[in-house]
Amino acid sequence: MTDVIVAGGGAAGMMTALTAARRGLAVTVLEPNGRMGKKLRITGKGRCNVTNDCEPQEFLKSVRSDPRFLKSALYAFPPSAAREFFEELGVPLKTERGGRVFPVSDSADDVADALERACRQTGVRFSKERLTEIRTLDGRVTGVATDRGERPCRAVVLCTGGISYPGTGSTGDGYALAEALGHRIVPPRPSLVPIEAEPDCGRMQGLSLRNVVLSLYRGDKLLYREQGEMLFTHFGVSGPLVLSASTYISGDVREYRLELDLKPGLTPEKLDERLLRDFGENINRDFVNSLDALLPQKLIPVVIVRSGIDPRVKVNSVTREQRLRLRDLIKRFPIRLTGLRPVEEAIVTAGGVDVTEVQPRTMESKLVSGLYFAGEILDLDARTGGFNLQIAWSTGYAAGRSIPLEEEQ
Ligand SMILES: Cc1cc2nc3c(=O)[nH]c(=O)nc-3n(C[C@H](O)[C@H](O)[C@H](O)COP(=O)(O)OP(=O)(O)OC[C@H]3O[C@@H](n4cnc5c(N)ncnc54)[C@H](O)[C@@H]3O)c2cc1C
Repeated sequence: MTDVIVAGGGAAGMMTALTAARRGLAVTVLEPNGRMGKKLRITGKGRCNVTNDCEPQEFLKSVRSDPRFLKSALYAFPPSAAREFFEELGVPLKTERGGRVFPVSDSADDVADALERACRQTGVRFSKERLTEIRTLDGRVTGVATDRGERPCRAVVLCTGGISYPGTGSTGDGYALAEALGHRIVPPRPSLVPIEAEPDCGRMQGLSLRNVVLSLYRGDKLLYREQGEMLFTHFGVSGPLVLSASTYISGDVREYRLELDLKPGLTPEKLDERLLRDFGENINRDFVNSLDALLPQKLIPVVIVRSGIDPRVKVNSVTREQRLRLRDLIKRFPIRLTGLRPVEEAIVTAGGVDVTEVQPRTMESKLVSGLYFAGEILDLDARTGGFNLQIAWSTGYAAGRSIPLEEEQ
């Protein structure tokens, strides 16, 4: 008989299965997709940002909800252990900007294939089945029902993910399965999600800015500031900086605003000198034609409209006051927000199984003996940079190493 049924063959499911199988447990992974790790294979734009190369205490600062719960599992299987683990599976790794760790091959498939191969070599069975119900008796797991029939087992690990990118199989089944056994589900909501913004952003659709500073404010309070990349889209803004900023938004999005420093390398004084120089070189040209060297083409019409300066005025007629306003606009380009994109488009689902009802060291349910959770199904989420996959590795490892062997029960 199978000891352990793992529902979901994603990052958390495969880590759980391999860890448990290495201890001698008989493990079956149920995965309705034909292929294991469908989401894992598209992570990091197909390159898979496996983890973040930092110490656990530093790591926890990037976890939005709930760092205290994650602490024990993270210390037991920190980023350094994840690195070692993948290198041992034959996936050499490299570290990039911000501690982001990727496979040297830049291939997420290599990560997923290595995990799946190691699982199979360790005796893990995979079955193309959907878990539909968990059977219990006297508060203890006795088996599961699937779309193909009944399966007895001693333990079930729910690794069914959140509800983002449902095309990868993460459709939220696990929430209903956990709820049916009395678990509270913190309402799922988008995290790491693109943001809808005022219409003139759409005019810059496709514009990618590589070296800007993005700040997020609620009223006067600065919530997030970082330098990096962002992107304008038909609905508003996206890209790494925007996704990270989105994790600080809750409630009414319209209470928040973004500000872009389009020239972080220049102080306001230096930027003014630069504008004076550019204007000097374009002395007889219209204002509209004077910004080509300073700003990307797609940005110029929007900056001109927002500056309030007549585009057809000659640059030598632009007043000092107008020039300083333009300078301030470039240093603090405001973006009014109108909404978050839906959770289906989020990189990560925030919310999920309430972690106060789960043992932090073992990932076992406090309500049902033999029921475990790992990965994104839990109310745990973090910013971009490899943190979310590390949550899957650490919680999967915690569950896999904690399910008792038969003789221990
Ligand atoms: C586009 C994109 C890029 C990302 N890039 C990164 C990155 O580079 N680095 C990073 O750290 N994080 C990244 N993430 C986040 C990361 O992919 C997830 O946090 C992580 O995959 C969660 O793993 P999981 O195993 O918990 O869930 P999932 O990977 O979602 O796996 C859940 C699995 O459960 C299966 N399942 C669902 N219902 C059932 C059922 N009833 N029975 C059986 N099986 C079921 C599903 O088919 C699915 O395969 C990215 C996410 C997206 C969408």
